Amino acid sequence: MMNGHFASVGEEGTREQYEHGVQVVDEDKEFNPHISQYLALENVIPAGFNYHIISVFGSQSTGKSTLLNYLFGTQFGVMQENERRQTTKGIWMSKNKRPTTGADGKTTMAENILVMDVEGTDGRERGEDQDFERKSSLFALATSEVLMVNIWEHQVGLYQGANMGLLKTVFEVNLQLFLKDSKTIPRSLLFFVIRDHLGNTPLENLRATLLQDLSRLWSTISKPPGLENSKIDDYFDFAFVALPHKILQPQQFEQAVEKLSKRFVEGFKDPKKAGLVNDEDTGVFQPQYHRRIPADGFPVYAEGIWDQIEQNKDLDLPTQQELLAQFRCDEIAREVLIPFDETIAPLEEKQAAAKLVGEPIIIQNLGLTMNKARETVFKDFETNASRYHKGVYTRKRAELESKVDTRLKALFQGQLQAAHKSGLAAFGDAVSGAVKAGQKKGATYDFAQIVESEKKKALASFERTAQNVVVQGATWSDYKQELTLFKKELDESSKRLRRDEMKRLANRVERWVRSRLGESIGLEFNKLGTGRGGSGAPENGEKPASEKDLWDRIWHVFTDTVTQAEARFTERAKSFDASPDEVDVGLWRLRRKSWGVLSAKIDEEMMEGNLLLKLRENFEDKFRYDDAGVPRIWRPTDDIEGAYTKARESTLKLIPLLTRFRLGETGSPPPLDAWIGAAPPGVSPADEDDLAPIGGVDEDEGKSLEEETLVLSEAKATDLANRFRKMADGVFVEAKRGALGGVTQ
Ligand code: GDP
Ligand code: MG
Repeated sequence: MMNGHFASVGEEGTREQYEHGVQVVDEDKEFNPHISQYLALENVIPAGFNYHIISVFGSQSTGKSTLLNYLFGTQFGVMQENERRQTTKGIWMSKNKRPTTGADGKTTMAENILVMDVEGTDGRERGEDQDFERKSSLFALATSEVLMVNIWEHQVGLYQGANMGLLKTVFEVNLQLFLKDSKTIPRSLLFFVIRDHLGNTPLENLRATLLQDLSRLWSTISKPPGLENSKIDDYFDFAFVALPHKILQPQQFEQAVEKLSKRFVEGFKDPKKAGLVNDEDTGVFQPQYHRRIPADGFPVYAEGIWDQIEQNKDLDLPTQQELLAQFRCDEIAREVLIPFDETIAPLEEKQAAAKLVGEPIIIQNLGLTMNKARETVFKDFETNASRYHKGVYTRKRAELESKVDTRLKALFQGQLQAAHKSGLAAFGDAVSGAVKAGQKKGATYDFAQIVESEKKKALASFERTAQNVVVQGATWSDYKQELTLFKKELDESSKRLRRDEMKRLANRVERWVRSRLGESIGLEFNKLGTGRGGSGAPENGEKPASEKDLWDRIWHVFTDTVTQAEARFTERAKSFDASPDEVDVGLWRLRRKSWGVLSAKIDEEMMEGNLLLKLRENFEDKFRYDDAGVPRIWRPTDDIEGAYTKARESTLKLIPLLTRFRLGETGSPPPLDAWIGAAPPGVSPADEDDLAPIGGVDEDEGKSLEEETLVLSEAKATDLANRFRKMADGVFVEAKRGALGGVTQ
């Protein structure tokens, strides 16, 4: 699938177009940019290393093309018998067309054999153009595993023959290739095809003659410094075959070619151990001949090589291979990123869009998708790129990994952020929902348990989401830190929720205090209206007990009520796991607020009208009723003045008593400071926000306890006394009148 994409360089080629193979280099030494198209058409591109390149050399018109066409089923142009003109120009390439397996399913030939037909080199038409010969030799050597040298039998031993010139060139350029790095240059097989073998001279003899000539030739070539002592078989293996005359013995020729074709299989014998490759049973394709250029990189590599050759630059194969590796690895990386991008980019967009509107989303099956995409992208890259230069491949793989992982990591973290945010929200909702449901039922719901169970659910859900999005084999794909953070924020959220719950509880308890105090304090004040009080005898001049200890009773009722409220509060607060500190703060607030409630209630009772009414009731009670509680009927003889004065003075004594909140026992204000207590250590500014300052407790407020407990100002007390007197006078006058009237009547 992916390799198919590599092939689609330019327009699609057709079989007809490449009937004769593809011209790699034309007669103007231009490299053909469509090699990859041809190799794609021939399905060689995906072959990896499973392909072979053979080049054929030899004087022109020695039947090279003819041989290739027989041997590989190719259709290279051949010279027609009637016009003796060179047909093969430049370098042509064609894939072996013969079947690679026989009818019995056995391998008959190696797969993907690419044959290069190199222009004849007699220079009949190119004159003394040694340049092309050199260049095409260099090109063939740099790319081919097997170099077939086509030679007439009658030329064997003719040391001065044209073929020797060619071979000399081959040897020289070969040494040039070895200059840079002798370790990375593979060996080559020189396969001599002796044509028009008459049969008189056995192949053995021809072989011996040729080898002799070759070593003689080797000794004469100029060797670069450092390679002076190199031997020919340091670089080359040799093989030989003799073919009958194609025209005179066509049948024998074809049989021999048929037999020869069987040798184009993978060879497994190490020729170093086996000696020279002359064993007909040994395949010509030895692993050590292979140039190790992956098939999909061959077009680029070949072009680069030709480019260097064309520009007469030193051919540095290791560098070429590294450049190729860089080029191809980049290309492959781009290719494998396409399907990755198709999968990942929409998710990235989705996540970014959701984030933009502040509502991060959890993408379903994100982990599965990411794992698959990551695995695929690396696997595809490895499959295609790992055949290239190891160092380059490793580097490019790291680059790709970082590119891929940067994006996946962002998705991963986005997902965790979404899980974090939605998890916290869901937790808060769930807790308040459960509280509301509990309130509806009216029962005392267990807040702590609600929080605990919702927290567990939230953590489990977060972990599920996180676990799902873990990318296998990615070191960054760890959510421990995020989980810890989530847990921490859950705790903080629980604390906030508990504080809210505490506030609700505090409000409830406060309301309860208010209603209780409203009732009980009102009652205490109402007692003022009963001037006789319990059993107290007004004669002894003492105030009735109910009047004298008004404040003691109020303080008692108040502290009693608050103590009960505190007990309620403490019990509830503990039930939802409030810390002792939190409870202390709640109680402290409750006491302060309760004091506020009491203050307000007292103020209400002290409102002028209310107070005057109470004084009047108190006075009238004393004036109009006798000690037994029987209403008096005034007679003119009665000491109305005396009773009036006594009752009035008794009631007037209440006013100074009322002006200040004093406890009878100590004669001092209630111990508010000690009773409220110091602010507990856990108190926060927020806790103090809605608290009114209390004199004598909050020293900074500049208000003393005396002032805090001053119920009625001096002026108001005087005013109240005056109004009371007038009111009492009225009652007196009325009584007096009533007494007189009663007599007259
Ligand atoms: P190339 O230039 O080396 O590719 O040679 P060609 O394949 O075009 O053939 C050149 C001529 O040699 C043609 O006329 C062929 O018919 C002829 N030819 C082909 N094979 C043989 C052979 O085995 N022996 C001889 N004597 N002639 C051959
Ligand atoms: Mg030819």
